[in-house]
Amino acid sequence: MRSHGTSESFVKMPTIKFTKLFINGEFVDSVSGKTFETRDPRNGEVIANIAEGDKEDVDLAVRVARAAFDHGPWPRMSGFERARIMMKFADLVEQNIEEVATLDTLDAGKLFSSLKDYELPDAIKSLRYYAGAADKIHGDVLKMSRPLQAYTLLEPIGVVGHIIPWNFPSSSFFVKTSPALAAGCTMVVKPAEQTPLSALYYAHLAKLAGIPDGVLNVITGFGPTAGAAISSHMDIDMVSFTGSTEVGREIMKAAATSNLKPVVLELGGKSPLLIFDDADIDMASDLALFGFSFNKGEVCTAGSRLYVQEGIYDEFVKKLVEKAKGWIVGDPFDPNVCHGPQVDKVQFEKVLSYIEHGNREGATLLTGGKPIGDKGYYIEPTIFTDVKEDMLIVKNEIFGPVVVLMKFKTMEEAIRRANDTTYGLAAGIVTKDLNVANTVSRSIRAGTIWINCYLEEDRDCPFGGYKMSGIGRDLGLEALHKYLQVKSVITPIYNSPW
Ligand code: NAD
Repeated sequence: MRSHGTSESFVKMPTIKFTKLFINGEFVDSVSGKTFETRDPRNGEVIANIAEGDKEDVDLAVRVARAAFDHGPWPRMSGFERARIMMKFADLVEQNIEEVATLDTLDAGKLFSSLKDYELPDAIKSLRYYAGAADKIHGDVLKMSRPLQAYTLLEPIGVVGHIIPWNFPSSSFFVKTSPALAAGCTMVVKPAEQTPLSALYYAHLAKLAGIPDGVLNVITGFGPTAGAAISSHMDIDMVSFTGSTEVGREIMKAAATSNLKPVVLELGGKSPLLIFDDADIDMASDLALFGFSFNKGEVCTAGSRLYVQEGIYDEFVKKLVEKAKGWIVGDPFDPNVCHGPQVDKVQFEKVLSYIEHGNREGATLLTGGKPIGDKGYYIEPTIFTDVKEDMLIVKNEIFGPVVVLMKFKTMEEAIRRANDTTYGLAAGIVTKDLNVANTVSRSIRAGTIWINCYLEEDRDCPFGGYKMSGIGRDLGLEALHKYLQVKSVITPIYNSPW
C-alpha cells in the first residue's frame, strides 16, 4: 500500500548547516577541494554537496588525533570529568533530536518517527551508559606466586578509526564513539558516503559540549579512498568497523599489512526466525513481518530466513501475506508509514535484481516483488516460498524487504537448517515450550538469540557475530574493554614474609 501526503505537511525541513570535514575542532574543506553529492532516496534529488575526504585528509585528522592523545587533556582527565562532558553531549543531542532525525530521514529514507522515538533516544543512551562507566575503569591487584607486587592498569588504546554504515547512521555513530570516548581514546570517524549529514552535526555538538579539539574528527568520503586510508594507517591503533562482510575482509587485510592494529568487525547476516507449532500465529506473523521489513530490510539482523513448523504452516502463510499486504510503504516522514525508500539507487537495483533471481530460479512469489511509484526507491515487502537451500535468495544477504519462507518438521531439522549459513549474527525462536527455546538458543551459532521477540536490544547487551558475521562485540561493557589496553606493573618485594 502507498501513503499519501507531502513531507512538508509532517515536519519542518532543515537547512543543511554542516557539509565540511571536521578536523581539530574546525569545519574545513578537503585538501583536494573535491565534494560529492548526498541524495534524498524519496526522489533521487541532491540534498547537499559534502567535502570529499581522501588519504591526505585522513593523515591530517590522524595527526591531530595523535597529538590530542599524546599531549591533550582527554586521556589524562579523570573519568568523572570525561563523563560530565559526555553527559552534556547527550543533552545537546536530545535538545536537537528533531533536526538530526530529519537529517537521517532525508539521507537514508529511514522513518522519522522511529528515529525520534527509538533510534535516537537509544543513541543518546549509549553516550550516557558509557559516561556512567568512564569513572569506573580500573585494573586489578594481583596475588602473585612469587615475592612480587603486581597490578594491572587499564589504559585507552590510543587513536581509533571508526568506519560506519548508512543503515543506522546515528545509532552506529554513538555505539562506536561512546565507549571510545569513555575510555579516553581520540578518534577519526568515517560515516558512510550515503549518510554523512548527522555525523557532521554530531561533530558540531561534540565541540559545544566541550570535547577538546582533535579528540573527535569526522572525515566524510568514500570507502576505497578515505575508509582504506584509515584501515591501512600506520598511526591508528585500532579500527572499529560496521558494514559488509566483503569490506570487513578488506579492513582486516589492511590492518594486518600495515601496523597489525586490532579490528572489531560487525558484519552482515542472513538470520533465521524459527516458528514452532505451539506459537501464537498472530504474534509470530507480526514478528516475522517486522523482522524482515523493519527499516525496509536494511538491518544486519533482519529475519530474512523464515522456518515455520508444518502444523501451522498454511495458516501462518495466510496471515503473514495478509499482513504484508497491509504494510504501508511511503514517505518516511508520514507517521502512518511502515517503511520508506531503500537508501539509494544502487541498493534499490540490487534488491530488485535478487527478486528477479528468485523468480528466475523458480521460487514462488507470494506477495510483493515490485517497486512502488515512479519516483524514489520504494519496494514492496516481498515473500518467496518453494525455495531450495542453494538458491541465491536463501544464501545471500539481500538487505531489502525480502524474506524466504520454508517449512520444517522437527526441532533438530530446524536447528540444522538454521545453522546452514556462513553467517552467525542473530536468530529468533517463537515457541511456548521453554525446553525448545533453551535447546535451540544453545544450538544456534549466532551472537544474539531472540525468544518470542525480534530485533530487541539495549545498551548493556553485547552485540556481534559468530562466523563470517564478525569479530568482537559492540555495546555492553564488552565493547568498552575493546578500547582499553591492559598493562601489568610488577615490582619485587624484598625480605618480606608476605
Ligand atoms: P559497506 O561495507 O559497503 O560500507 C560500510 C562502510 O565501509 C562505509 O562507511 C564505506 O564507505 C566503508 N568502506 C567501503 N569500502 C571500504 C574499504 N575498502 N576500506 C575501508 N572502508 C570501506 O557496507 P554498507 O553497504 O554500507 O552496509 C551494509 C552492510 O553492513 C550489510 O552487510 C550489513 O549487514 C552490515 N551491517 C552490519 C551491522 C552489524 O552490527 N553487524 C550493522 C549494520 C550494518
